Amino acid sequence: MKIEKISLGYINIPLVTPFKTALRTVNSVNDLIVKIETEDGTVGYGEAPPTAVITGDTKESIEAAIRGYIAPSIRGMDLDELDAVMEKMETCIAKNTSAKAAVDIALYDLYAKRKGMPLFRLLAEKDPGQARTRLETDLTISVNDTEEMVRDSLRAVGQGFRILKVKVGKGGSRDVERIREIRRAVGPEIVIRVDANQGWTKEEAVRTIRAMEDENLGIELVEQPVSGHDFKGLKYVTEQVNTPILADEAVFSVEDAERIIEERAADLINIKLMKTGGIHNAQKICDLAQKQDVRCMIGCMLESKVAVSAGAHLAAARSCVTMADLDGPSLCSIDPYQGGPVYQGPEILLSEESGIGIVNVPVTFEEIS
Ligand code: MG
Repeated sequence: MKIEKISLGYINIPLVTPFKTALRTVNSVNDLIVKIETEDGTVGYGEAPPTAVITGDTKESIEAAIRGYIAPSIRGMDLDELDAVMEKMETCIAKNTSAKAAVDIALYDLYAKRKGMPLFRLLAEKDPGQARTRLETDLTISVNDTEEMVRDSLRAVGQGFRILKVKVGKGGSRDVERIREIRRAVGPEIVIRVDANQGWTKEEAVRTIRAMEDENLGIELVEQPVSGHDFKGLKYVTEQVNTPILADEAVFSVEDAERIIEERAADLINIKLMKTGGIHNAQKICDLAQKQDVRCMIGCMLESKVAVSAGAHLAAARSCVTMADLDGPSLCSIDPYQGGPVYQGPEILLSEESGIGIVNVPVTFEEIS
């Protein structure tokens, strides 16, 4: 079935509260939406956020990559030869992982819809018997003054979240205080993940993580303690502490994942579709992780329900994915879409709707000619 039309539009959704990490502050989700149609009129949707500070992709660059390179390369190709379409997209332009992810998500949505299957069941064919229909996500706590972070954590727990992803990376000793006070406030049962977003030096990371260990703060893992480019630093921290280290900004490609796993530079891998360039490559990382017995998280950028739900389908499909950080829709003040997985506090419920499940995307689309 021929890929016939590719169209672009934008969605804008205000956040409940500003999202703050060691790298940035954001007030709303303003993402590109891709719509792809086959000649029989079936439609697939994808989404990409411009997360320049992490992926290098801006609103303008994502649009230019799709308009100028990806759309002309894959239009007219046969969707049923999905691997060939993906390879074509991979080679028509280097990098530009967010643009590729948006198109990849739309293609998988479309492909699964044409098969009449929910996407997670299609993806689970690589991992038989693993498909789940229920996931539990953490909720992000932005980095702020300790008191505000404690308040936000208590609010999250009040909303039913049992796993908190606490953003730190702004001053090592203050970070220990932040986690200490949050742990004191939420009690011992709540799972705390700490995400430094590359905010520490390797020495500062070891000092800070050991201090948390000495105080028995019960940290499940620490994510990306040092710069994503500092492979040696990441490996050093992983070797020096007992707390599991999760690689995020250090892993974009399948090759990155391979190197991290081979050299044990981190214990766990955070897969995000915007880093891998979509589901196609994310599946390859899952295959690799599974073979080496490495557990993964599926995470998201500040994305709304289209892209986050693609991540949820992948998380539901693969056994190596034991952690979900898919709180994008929970951070949005409204859900403008119809259909798709249900986000109910910490729970994500998948249904048997075909594709990703989203049927109405209230965006003005413009077809790429
Ligand atoms: Mg992270």
